[in-house]
Amino acid sequence: MEHLSARIASLSPSATMAMNQAGQDLKAKGVDVINLSVGEPDFNTPDHIKAAANKAINNNKSFYPPAPGFPELREAIAAKFKRENDLDYTPEQIVVSCGAKNSLANVILCLVDKGDEVIVPSPYWVTYAEQVKLAEGVNVILRGAIENDFKVSAKEIEKAITPKTKAILLCSPSNPTGAMYSKKELEEIARVVEKHPRVHVITDEIYEHITFKDKHETIGQFDFIKDQVVIVNGVSKAYAMTGWRIGYMAAPLWLAKACTKLQGQLITGPTTIAQMAAIEALNGDQSCIQDMLVAFKRRKELTMKLLKEIPGIETSDPEGAFYVFPKVSSYYGKSAGNRKIETSQDFCIYLLEVANIATVPGEAFGEPDCIRISFATSDEKITDAMGRMKKAIAELK
Ligand code: PMP
Ligand code: GLU
Repeated sequence: MEHLSARIASLSPSATMAMNQAGQDLKAKGVDVINLSVGEPDFNTPDHIKAAANKAINNNKSFYPPAPGFPELREAIAAKFKRENDLDYTPEQIVVSCGAKNSLANVILCLVDKGDEVIVPSPYWVTYAEQVKLAEGVNVILRGAIENDFKVSAKEIEKAITPKTKAILLCSPSNPTGAMYSKKELEEIARVVEKHPRVHVITDEIYEHITFKDKHETIGQFDFIKDQVVIVNGVSKAYAMTGWRIGYMAAPLWLAKACTKLQGQLITGPTTIAQMAAIEALNGDQSCIQDMLVAFKRRKELTMKLLKEIPGIETSDPEGAFYVFPKVSSYYGKSAGNRKIETSQDFCIYLLEVANIATVPGEAFGEPDCIRISFATSDEKITDAMGRMKKAIAELK
């Protein structure tokens, strides 16, 4: 008999991680699976960053770290905010964690009380709604329409705010849609937030360097709401460091202190060696970001071109990140043999089992009409996968 807390029993497992695992399991059985599920750069961590970690090991950097992260790393992050975003944060306002996922959990747990509402524009990254549930908060899902690039407007946010609203979660460039909020759209949202001092914006900017058209804009630039904004970011995507598990946040001092307290009880602090590597990532040669961006741009064009050749699929054009989020619901109700497609989950299972491509159901992101495809893989694999997908979809009648 299981005796789990209600808190954990009601938590859904991460759908992105689950589909990644399903793809890997099938691969382990000898099936030639193309994995377009989990969102992680397929590049190796650049050599100069790995060298910094090796040096840290050789220099016996093997002791506990300070709870909010090493001062050198927090200084490097403050310098990054100045250099790249023209934002002024002191190192004391920065807390380093085990990935941006951990930073988000800290912020949500430190802000949200039981019954507090958190506005989550959908489609949203799978983890947001679950972390809000963990904090016993209430998710207020605001659905963005495909016609508006899945974005929500300041007006829609304003309508959703109630006396119980504690936070709004923004993600730009977006996982799963690749949509990006413009400076004008962010300023309009900031003007709404300004009217509600109890409302905080948690802005997830982990894909800030992966942009195909316009430059990334942050809502953190509007000084009139500076005390209400928390920026979450990390080294996972920009520097191909997903497994090193280093993320960070910049926040008002009171919130940074609270997150440090929480982290001191939960994880002590993020891994010492990984922090040394992150210092080099942020302070060292930045050309790796551009090199990877060239590949991501080319892969995005390729994915879009091939996807458009598949009938019955509608998609917005991603402006950033490395995902496309096509609408596939025109196939719901269709069958191939004894397989009937009713949901995005069915669609993804069909693609996995018939075409051997792993993708993620839109349901997990709050958008049941779509599926998520990650194009953070080679041109050859993208071409092969899109061909397989076209063929499998053609069987649906
Ligand atoms: N936010 C978004 C939108 C993401 O896609 C990811 C990727 N896992 C994260 C946060 C977390 O990144 P990490 O924990 O690897 O830093
Ligand atoms: N952000 C990635 C994704 O959405 C990594 C998986 C995860 O951290 O859940 O696929």
